[in-house]
Amino acid sequence: MHVAFFSTHAFDREFFDQVNVTRHHDLHYLEARLTPSTSALAQGFPVVCAFVNDQLGAGVLAALAAGGARMIALRSAGFNHVDLSRARELGLSVSRVPAYSPHAVAEHTIALILTLNRKIHRAYARVREGNFALDGLLGFDLVGRTVGVVGTGKIGAIVVRILIAFGCRVLAYDIAPSPECRVMGVEYVPLDDIWTRSDVITLHTPLTTETRHRVDAGAIARMKPGVMIINTGRGALVDTPALIDGLKRGHIGYLGLDVYEEEEQLFFQDLSSHVIQDDVFARLLTFPNVVVTAHQAFFTREALRAISETTLDNISAFEQGRRSGNELY
Ligand code: NAD
Repeated sequence: MHVAFFSTHAFDREFFDQVNVTRHHDLHYLEARLTPSTSALAQGFPVVCAFVNDQLGAGVLAALAAGGARMIALRSAGFNHVDLSRARELGLSVSRVPAYSPHAVAEHTIALILTLNRKIHRAYARVREGNFALDGLLGFDLVGRTVGVVGTGKIGAIVVRILIAFGCRVLAYDIAPSPECRVMGVEYVPLDDIWTRSDVITLHTPLTTETRHRVDAGAIARMKPGVMIINTGRGALVDTPALIDGLKRGHIGYLGLDVYEEEEQLFFQDLSSHVIQDDVFARLLTFPNVVVTAHQAFFTREALRAISETTLDNISAFEQGRRSGNELY
């Protein structure tokens, strides 16, 4: 099928072209992000392929449908950026990639925990400057520490498995607790217990109206002084100004973010020669105990291969009038 492929990066081309050798779709790569002003680029394409920071609100969906689109093929697991009820009204099929490599995101989560704890980000810079002093690099043993995992789906369950192997005590909160996690020894507790009892808190739920800004000033106030907070889920799971306030007061001891509420203005592009206009984000970068990665948790070879295969198979299924099982309704 003819596919308008938005927000293309070199890595997308590499993996999609490899996988498309056996799928034979016509992929029209566009570097532009999908926004109200770029939606016209999809004119005449029956399929629009979009990533996490493309805008798929009501107006863009209407423009795409008017331009001939019949299917939105998301190459992401998250779909909080799509107005699903409007898409359905417009008769658009919307599919996603529900699982590609949950290991990629889980392992990146652990990388953030270890980096922050052992201050690898600071040690790396220091040693390169010929500074071999250890002052300020003191960490703690993870064994025996209490980690609160919010969301024990595909990604959260792997995080749990790794943490249990480290010898951590794992508390979890999920609206649908996982029997597999219970067998591993996880204690499911109310959310407030996650806040009050955890040394490390890591977020793995989707972004919904219920989970938006779940980590806010009230939640932070309930947490242990010196708590480590990790967010590889979605930026808006946390209230960033409240995190900054907690960091300034020293109540939050460590913060690891792979996602940021306003990331669509920043991530997936090289802005190293520009002045960052987002003051909240710029403030985050000033803390020595904050590590931010630019939505790269998913970014492994295995994940990109799986994303390409599932996305193109979803499009093939649509072309053949079959359901792939990855449709959102
Ligand atoms: P999943 O659907 O397998 O698991 C989500 C879990 O959250 C489920 O167990 C569900 O019951 C639980 N949940 C849903 N609503 C909840 C609520 N209100 N309160 C408590 N628990 C709730 O999803 P997954 O594959 O584990 O992915 C989780 C999230 O990670 C995705 O939604 C996405 O936003 C994010 N993600 C980030 C990256 C990245 O690169 N940083 C990559 C993939 C996914």
